[in-house]
Amino acid sequence: MAKRDYYDILGVSKGASDDEMKKAYRKLAIKYHPDKNPDNPEAEEKFKEAAEAYEVLTNPDKRARYDRFGHDGMRAGGGGAGGMNMDDIFSQFGDIFGGGGSPFESFFGGGGGGRSRQRKGTNLRVKLKLTLDEIANGVEKKIKVKRLINAEGVTFKTCNTCGGSGQTKKVVNTMLGQMVSASTCHTCQGSGKIIDKRPPGVDSTGLEMMEEVIPIKIPAGVSDGMQLSMSGKGNMAPGGGVPGDLLIVIEEAEHDVLKRDGNNIVFDLYVNFADAALGSSIEVPTIDGAVRIKIDPGTQSGKILRLRGKGVRDINGYGKGDQLIHVNVWTPKKLNSEEKEMLERLRSADNFEPKPGKGEKGFFEKIREFF
Ligand SMILES: [Zn+2]
Repeated sequence: MAKRDYYDILGVSKGASDDEMKKAYRKLAIKYHPDKNPDNPEAEEKFKEAAEAYEVLTNPDKRARYDRFGHDGMRAGGGGAGGMNMDDIFSQFGDIFGGGGSPFESFFGGGGGGRSRQRKGTNLRVKLKLTLDEIANGVEKKIKVKRLINAEGVTFKTCNTCGGSGQTKKVVNTMLGQMVSASTCHTCQGSGKIIDKRPPGVDSTGLEMMEEVIPIKIPAGVSDGMQLSMSGKGNMAPGGGVPGDLLIVIEEAEHDVLKRDGNNIVFDLYVNFADAALGSSIEVPTIDGAVRIKIDPGTQSGKILRLRGKGVRDINGYGKGDQLIHVNVWTPKKLNSEEKEMLERLRSADNFEPKPGKGEKGFFEKIREFF
């Protein structure tokens, strides 16, 4: 199914301000909230769709990219907004409905559906620079991160405010009539427990910053800007909730001579004129080490040779790319008198007159053939 336009989803114009979008999104979020539409996959879909549209359009970078390239622009460069999960969406509500005791939570928090409102630790984001070799074949890395963990020696007691339930209930007048609403307890932030005793150096949330080395397996074929996620390796939550995630943003280091083009690797080979005319065997670098290739006699500048399977392994497991070798015949920039003399004799030779035949493919044909 084709993706709907983000502006259409929110029902706003292209030039809509953040404020307009906030209002529009607020309405949609209330209308399609899962607690109000239990077992209604269509409403859930609309709910997620609106959250995604709002997420993209209120982020200046993403919005600019979306305006220029549409949904295609959201897929490239790891800036995608697709696949927002419910946790992401609910964490977004802090901004929409105001922090803390949001009216939203009051409306729906107690209404049921049994969604756990356990506190979640914050996500951590680290950048990881990888070489082309590492990307081509996958690699195991150890990442050093500083994360908040539940400190040892901290003891907890039941929260007095909520009596351990993590929620406070009150009767409120809403636009839907009078409702008994439950909202997250402010004292314990929903955990039902507060800190009793803590050792020196531990903050009031019972967390302390620790450096940890986390091993991670990077699959082959990742690309610049891609984001990998390790669930539960982010900051821990105060009082023992669900830990956040560790997000790893991939950066691609540039290789000296090999260039990546999708899963293919492109290499510019310079051969001397004699090698191109007489034929030769030349060593070229690949990500798996040097490989000797044959240059046929009479090779034209611009020819593209293919080394099958010497490219990057596809991230989705669709085999490996190739290495494409772009042959450039090197013209000497300076000649001594002896060389000049030899070339002068060749210049007028009939055999040296260019006679491109049908077999000589033009630049665009070659490109079409290979990409
Ligand atoms: Zn409490």
